[in-house]
Amino acid sequence: MSRIDLHLHTTHSDGSLRPSDVLALAKQASVTALAITDHDITTGINEAIAAGRELGIEVIPGVEVSSFDGRSEFHILGYYVQCEDPVFMSRLATLRDSRHRRNPLIIERLRGAGLDVTYDEVRALAGTESVGRPHIARLMMQKKYVSSAKEAFDRYLGEGKPAYVARELPTPVEAIQWIREAKGVAVLAHPTWVKDTGDALRSCVTALKNAGLGGVEVHYSTHSKSQTAQYLELARRLNLLVTGGSDFHGITKPDIGVGCGRGDLKVNPSLLEPLKAAANG
Ligand code: AMP
Ligand code: ZN
Ligand code: FE
Ligand code: FE
Repeated sequence: MSRIDLHLHTTHSDGSLRPSDVLALAKQASVTALAITDHDITTGINEAIAAGRELGIEVIPGVEVSSFDGRSEFHILGYYVQCEDPVFMSRLATLRDSRHRRNPLIIERLRGAGLDVTYDEVRALAGTESVGRPHIARLMMQKKYVSSAKEAFDRYLGEGKPAYVARELPTPVEAIQWIREAKGVAVLAHPTWVKDTGDALRSCVTALKNAGLGGVEVHYSTHSKSQTAQYLELARRLNLLVTGGSDFHGITKPDIGVGCGRGDLKVNPSLLEPLKAAANG
């Protein structure tokens, strides 16, 4: 059965597989169209498009921008963004710079906790300018301080844990505006990250819609059936597009597969046309 996957990470940010390897897995999973949505960077898209051409998979240019409203982290996916837009590219570069200011502080805290890790080692392992906590987690796994990325986040790197350091982030409204100015469609990723629920969530998403949000990632690897139903209802009420994706990362999320999430994710190819229409409209 054919399917699509609109949320995938590669070695160009904190995924552990190259774009062409992600595409090969997508082919095996009967994925007919996908979006590469690396954090704060679009350099993986051309390799993905070339691999997609070979395999007969449509590749949508994408990006995932982190933002913060003072309470929750909002990840905003940008689809069909113009990768040659110099203003957008410099905004993404600013976001990557904020990673490089935060990450050494995380390393200092890990060293303070007795772990022998350096930022040079993290950068060498990452091999990209978009260096994230999953890269730090991978180094900690390699050095046997933890046995999984989950353990690294649960014990050290996650919010409220001893090596947690926040980074400077735009607000969700700014992230949406940046994506819109780069001619992209802005979609709220994994809405479970928003700390509001019920009516408060609806008014929060309404405000984002007024700022230019185009859709909600209703289908997601870790959503329960009732969460999926709740976000579908929210999207329908607010007349927002419905999207979905696995958030595949490879080794740091070993239970998540391309196109299939934890095994029960299936994003219908029919969701793609409305997204495309919104990008062109
Ligand atoms: P950063 O972009 O550096 O703030 O790191 C956040 C990224 O870490 C998220 O986008 C996820 O991909 C990943 N992440 C967050 N929590 C976990 C976890 N428990 N296990 C593995 N990866 C995680
Ligand atoms: Zn990530
Ligand atoms: Fe995310
Ligand atoms: Fe993601």
